[in-house]
Amino acid sequence: MIDFSIEPEFKAKLDWMDKFVRDECETMDLLWPEMAANFDTSIKDARRHLKPLQDQVKAQGLWACHLGPNLGGPGYGQVKLALMNEIIGRSNWAPTIFGTAAPDTGNAEILAMFGTPEQKQKYLGPLMDGDIVSCFSMTEPQGGADPGEFTCKATLVKNDKGEDEWEIEGEKWFSSNAKLAAFLLVLAVTDPEAKLTERMSMFIVPTETPGINILRNVAIIGDLDPENGHHAHIHYDKVRVPYDHLLGEIGGGFKVAQARLGGGRIHHAMRTVGRCQRAFDMMLERAVSRRTRGRMLGDHQMVQSKLADSIIQLEQFRLLTLKTAWIIDEVEAGRMPHGAARNHIGMCKIAMPQLYKDVVGRALEIHGSLGISLDMPLANSYAGHWSLAFADGPTDAHKSQLARAYLKKAKPAEGMFPSEHIPTRYAAARARYPNARDDW
Ligand SMILES: Cc1cc2nc3c(=O)[nH]c(=O)nc-3n(C[C@H](O)[C@H](O)[C@H](O)COP(=O)(O)OP(=O)(O)OC[C@H]3O[C@@H](n4cnc5c(N)ncnc54)[C@H](O)[C@@H]3O)c2cc1C
Repeated sequence: MIDFSIEPEFKAKLDWMDKFVRDECETMDLLWPEMAANFDTSIKDARRHLKPLQDQVKAQGLWACHLGPNLGGPGYGQVKLALMNEIIGRSNWAPTIFGTAAPDTGNAEILAMFGTPEQKQKYLGPLMDGDIVSCFSMTEPQGGADPGEFTCKATLVKNDKGEDEWEIEGEKWFSSNAKLAAFLLVLAVTDPEAKLTERMSMFIVPTETPGINILRNVAIIGDLDPENGHHAHIHYDKVRVPYDHLLGEIGGGFKVAQARLGGGRIHHAMRTVGRCQRAFDMMLERAVSRRTRGRMLGDHQMVQSKLADSIIQLEQFRLLTLKTAWIIDEVEAGRMPHGAARNHIGMCKIAMPQLYKDVVGRALEIHGSLGISLDMPLANSYAGHWSLAFADGPTDAHKSQLARAYLKKAKPAEGMFPSEHIPTRYAAARARYPNARDDW
């Protein structure tokens, strides 16, 4: 049975979240609007404000809701998480205040899934408590979205005491928040001859380890200083870590990385619903507030068309996201096979930047010069659709993968014409009922 109602107890939680995000998280957005300020543990003033807010979230049982009880979280499941993330998605600071900020969420997930008890105690504990931030260092400057091109390698060597250590050598690109992180999760080639899925291993590298050279902190749209962005180009210059800093098995890095990417994509999608809903609300307010040519903006048909297109697109995407969340819950419960959500996660990833671009873009347009100005959050927000399009893999690569998944199941037509060819089917229908049209 399909049921869109929300049970009253959970609705009360959502109502609390909605008010809290508008009152508290959006206040943090206004006070500390700088890119990645929510990850910067050195901004003491912001941290002083942050802690009591995080405590309120914890007291409500709403902290780190992306993690199931087996991984140390409250375990609401993905459908409920989708509804929560819609609210969290309104604000830049909210994910940090609710303990669900990427890339820490994905990193926490793989530490919980693959970490040893010692690794969990040292890295997962403080990460889950919100005391530190982390970085996922996978993409390479020459490798981009294709792990088959990765060359950054880790070799087993002996230290002065004759103990095994890993030596990491190579470059990584767009390692978000590396300059703010306490540790990096680095994917490195350990057996170049092995097949792709067994070629790499994952390592935990504390940021104070010698040899981590941040060549540049690359800035993106929305950053103010081109030399002080948040996406590090790193040279791992013979970086040595103890043997036990391997996360998962030798050759298991691909599997570890995959385990975090699916969750990351769907959580972005859930938050995008909230961000677009906020833009739509701004559109509505403007449409009934500003007059032109003797009428409200909302009385002009082109504005109405923008409003209608936006809410339809948003509702379609929201339903896709909720269905995907439901499939993930079914897989978790063992009622659907492992991997059953893959295509739907791909659909969300592909549709997300387009939705964002369309809805936020229309909101900006309806606000005119005010919309493009930095007096409104729309202009900075609009640029974000490119981040959604590239982070966790470019749209084109996902489209290609999705199409191939369906092509694999497709069967060629048996005859010269397609199986839906009307004359052929008509002939078959006539053969089945030769007298069917006799009275015409
Ligand atoms: C805001 C942001 C944050 C990021 N954070 C991190 C991070 O924390 N850690 C990390 O490791 N990486 C991070 N990345 C990097 C991200 O994973 C890569 O940008 C992504 O994998 C694409 O790689 P690329 O940018 O080199 O593009 P490329 O791989 O060079 O792709 C460029 C274009 O080539 C085409 N193309 C590429 N592959 C295919 C294909 N298979 N089929 C069809 N067309 C294709 C597409 O048109 C694509 O847009 C981040 C990126 C962004 C934008």
